[in-house]
Amino acid sequence: MYKEIVEILKCPCCGTDLELITEKEENGEIIEGQLTCAQKHTYKIFAGIIDFGAEEQKDSC
Ligand SMILES: [Zn+2]
Repeated sequence: MYKEIVEILKCPCCGTDLELITEKEENGEIIEGQLTCAQKHTYKIFAGIIDFGAEEQKDSC
């Protein structure tokens, strides 16, 4: 995924803006990292794909 996408993404759980934590980047593309929202919902980025299904928080949205 590309960094620019983060600016238009919202947390699918609570609808707030997402913050990007980059762990691995290649040619301007995020390969591995995390997205975290204001309410600490966390989504993993793996192999360049955001996994919105792996939300770590156990609370229901
Ligand atoms: Zn959220």
